[in-house]
This record gives sequence, C-alpha cells and structure tokens, in this order.
Amino acid sequence: MFNVYDIRKDFPILNQTVEGKRNIYLDTAASAQKPAVMAERISRFYLTEYANVHRGNYFLSEHSTESYERARKTVQLFINAERPEEVIFTRNATEGINLVAATYGASNLHPGDEILLSRAEHHANLVTWQQWAQKIGAVLKYFDLNEDGSFSKEKFLSALSSQTKIVSVTAMSNVLGTVFPVKNICAAAHSAGAKVLIDACQFAVHKKIDVHDFDCDFLVFSGHKVYGPTGIGILYGKYDLLCNMPPYQYGGDMIDHVSYESTQFTTPPARFEAGTQAIAQVVGLDASLQYLMQFNFSEIEAYESSLTDYMTEQLLQIKGLKIVGQIPDKGGVCSFAIDKIHPQDLAFVLGKEGIAVRTGHFCAEPLVNLLGYTSLTRASLGIYTTKEDIDELIRALYKAKSFFE
Ligand SMILES: *Cc1c(COP(=O)(O)O)cnc(C)c1O
Repeated sequence: MFNVYDIRKDFPILNQTVEGKRNIYLDTAASAQKPAVMAERISRFYLTEYANVHRGNYFLSEHSTESYERARKTVQLFINAERPEEVIFTRNATEGINLVAATYGASNLHPGDEILLSRAEHHANLVTWQQWAQKIGAVLKYFDLNEDGSFSKEKFLSALSSQTKIVSVTAMSNVLGTVFPVKNICAAAHSAGAKVLIDACQFAVHKKIDVHDFDCDFLVFSGHKVYGPTGIGILYGKYDLLCNMPPYQYGGDMIDHVSYESTQFTTPPARFEAGTQAIAQVVGLDASLQYLMQFNFSEIEAYESSLTDYMTEQLLQIKGLKIVGQIPDKGGVCSFAIDKIHPQDLAFVLGKEGIAVRTGHFCAEPLVNLLGYTSLTRASLGIYTTKEDIDELIRALYKAKSFFE
C-alpha cells in the first residue's frame, strides 16, 4: 500500500538536515532522490559480484552478464515492450535521442523531409533534431499548444503533413506539466507516414509507460529521473526498425565478425551498445525499477495528482504569483513567477530554509521565452513528497515576499 511516510524511510537523504533545516526536496523533475535499495544493490554488485559482461567464460562474468540481461527484462516489463531486444542501454535520454537522429534519422531523412516537434520540447529533443535537420537539409517544424499550455489536436494535425517523416515529442512537459496524448499522436503520425519518438523523461516517473499501447516507434527516458542511478538511460525501439538501423558507435561488443578489411555488425541491442557499458548502473536501475514497480502507478498518480492540486491551490493564493501551465490532469510540476522577485533571489531564500527548487529555463529556453519570461521557478514532486513539504514551500514564499517587497 502507498504510504508516503513509509516511502520516505526508504530515501535516507530526505531524513537528513540541510542548512540546519529539514530537507525539502522539490526538484525531482531535474533528478530524483534515491532509495537505499538501489545504492545497496550497486554496492553489493561492486563488492561481491563484479566482472565485465559478455566477455569471460568464468563464474563472475557469467553472473554479471545475467544481472545485466535481467535488468533488460525488468525494463521490458516496466515499459511493456514485446521483447527484451527492443531495450537499449544508453548513457541517458539525451544519448538515446542522439542515437535515433544519427542512425535512423541520418539514413532515412532526405532534404525537404519534415521533422515535427512541439513548442514545449526539452533541449535534448529540440537541439538534437535542430542540428540534424540542418545537417540533412530537412525542415524542422513546431506545433503550437493552446494558450493555457494544453495540447491542441487541431494545431498538431494542421502541422502534420505527408512530408512529416519524424514526430518527436515529450510525453510530459518539464515546464508546463502538460501530459501529451501520445497514443493519439502516434496514430495520427503513422497515418501520415511518420515515425514517432516519445521523450518519456518526465512521464516515466509519474505514469505507466506502455509502448505497446502507445504504439510509438522509439521512446527514451533516463535512469536518474526514475529513482535510479546517473549515467544510464533507456532507448526503446521497435525491433524491425532497430534491425534496419546502422550502428551508432563502433568498437567491441557490437560485432559478429571482424577482419582487417571489414566488419559484420551484430543484431540489436548489442549493435548499439559498443564498448564496456555502465554495468553497475544497469544493475542499479534494475533495483530502482523493481522498487518503483512494487507500487501501483494508479496509486502514485492519485497521490501525486492530489498533491499537485494542493500545491497549485496554495501557490495561487500568493499575490503576484503566476503559474505557467494551469491544465487539468497535469503532471507534478509547477513553474511560476512572482512579481518583482527574481527567481535566483527567491531560490536563495528558499535554499536557506532547506528547500530545493529549480530556477532558470529548465533546458527549455525557447518555451520559457515564448511564455514571456527569461527565467522561472519550478517546484516538482516525487513519490516521497508530502503535504508538509508544500506547506513549508508556501511559508517560505511568503517569507521571501516580505523580504523583497
Ligand atoms: C531531463 C529531461 C531530458 C534529458 O534527460 P538527460 O538525463 O539529461 O539526458 C529530456 N527531456 C525531458 C522532458 C527531461 O525532463
């Protein structure tokens, strides 16, 4: 059963003080805190099980390989992929998007083809396609959102055309909290003849990913945002697409046969996992996903959504405070501005109260500018966030207001 006070016991960092104050961590959208089981798993792996994978015919290497490949099956289950071979380990979500652009994109896109993104993409998804579009001579297009930050079916459909070859969109905006109807987006894109990449970085921690139901062609997320280790990300791709994609990097582990003159590359996923991988992080990711999967996503959603509503309600009572993205059913982030207080000054005061929030453009500079700001403050939730955390935030915001006004 979902009990936030029990959950908090699993995250030692939340039970320590910061600047002499209770640690109030409201920056889960940037990176989530870690359950002890994950860190302990990595420690045990290094101290008692470690060896390189896919290499040695000895006990430890075989054992490591089993743990590594078991993690792939855990990810398969986590995202409901058809087979484990559709799961590729990358450094992070950013590398997953770069991989798709450099392999699928570079070999399938032609000058004049269109790549369609939303106006709310993270730099990882935006800059990557912007730069590859320039290299290829493809046309980068954006579809607008509604005034309130919600998804507009009409605006999306009018930007989609028979020229569109790739639609690459976030499943949940890290600025607005907007949850995109990815299943409908995939269906519409497919009937226009385009492939779809879903950036599930924010979505993955709050809602159940189901690649089978979405019918997306590619999907990425990062380990560190789902209570897992840094240095590990996931790229999902439909198997037949992966099979027809050239390698991303060359080296060991991605080959079948090598001669001095030529190389035969192996099948996915190994084709895309050149060199020694982040083995311990993969094993740690397994532990954090197992941890997350002991809860029911509908319980997580219900809890976080009531907390998001509470935070929104409380924030809006503060005079001069404006939230960008006030959308029903949004994910657990609130980005806001307060009249006459610079976000950096605000974060400084909050920091002294032990409260961690994010300020700036959140790696979505074009969107923040489009909304009319150069910088915002963002509070974001995780499974360990409590109503008391929100109350402390609100109290500190009133304090900051009296300080600066
Ligand atoms: C964090 C984030 C990314 C990038 O993740 P990395 O771990 O930095 O690669 C991409 N998209 C969204 C929506 C994000 O929140």
